[in-house]
Amino acid sequence: MKDILKNNNLKITQGRLEVLNLLNNSEIPLSVEEIYNNISRKSCKSLTTAYRIINQLESADIVRKVLQKDGISYYEMSLTSHKHYIICSICGTVLPIDHCPIEPLEEKVEKETGYIITGHIIELNGICPNCRKEKDI
Ligand SMILES: [Zn+2]
Ligand SMILES: [Zn+2]
Repeated sequence: MKDILKNNNLKITQGRLEVLNLLNNSEIPLSVEEIYNNISRKSCKSLTTAYRIINQLESADIVRKVLQKDGISYYEMSLTSHKHYIICSICGTVLPIDHCPIEPLEEKVEKETGYIITGHIIELNGICPNCRKEKDI
């Protein structure tokens, strides 16, 4: 983690390290508030500091915004492989989906339009098994 910061000319601070370790160990993307609640107050005193850390890491392309839910942004490490997520629209549980159905389409679109495609965002919404059971859907 220290090397990641060093390679991006960011000073190594305890706060940045804790944020990176947390995101690196998380299966799912986290919001700034979730990040703030899971790191020590010693290295990150306020939510504002947490937002600042995330913004710096995002500008350096170390973390990226992967999804948006109820107006809240969720972040993951940029190094993790390209993934999509499905979100339960009732309880908000997020699950990663391992394969990307869009990559073959990108090639086709690039050929047809002459664009270079630099990325895409797909977000799947659904109702999770727990909520289905509970609501009998
Ligand atoms: Zn659910
Ligand atoms: Zn994809």
